[in-house]
Parts: sequence; structure tokens; C-alpha cells
Amino acid sequence: MIMDKKCEIVRDLLFGYKDNTLHNESKKLVEEHLKTCENCNKIFQDLKEEENNISSEKKK
Ligand SMILES: [Zn+2]
Repeated sequence: MIMDKKCEIVRDLLFGYKDNTLHNESKKLVEEHLKTCENCNKIFQDLKEEENNISSEKKK
């Protein structure tokens, strides 16, 4: 599988995107990419799920 250069960039930004710490320009780049890239979308979903698991454990 060939790794798209854009995927690399977006994956670096995903953490910031999830935490909502990105500048508008970077945010837009991630959003646009997630619409078209299943792989990065999956990674983003995993990131979000991981965080949900962690925060629900904290509540216990
Ligand atoms: Zn991608």
C-alpha cells in the first residue's frame, strides 16, 4: 500500500483536530481529507473511541 503524503500530514494533525486545537486552515485540511480518505477516517474514529473509553473509565 502506498502511503499518501497527505495522509501523513493529516495523521499528524488528527490529535489536534480531535482536541480542537488546530487553526482553521489545518482544520479544513483535515476535514476535507477525512471526507475522501477511508483510512484516515478509520484512524480518527479509533482515536475518538479511545478517548471515550478513557473518559468513561475516569467517571467510575
Ligand atoms: Zn488519508
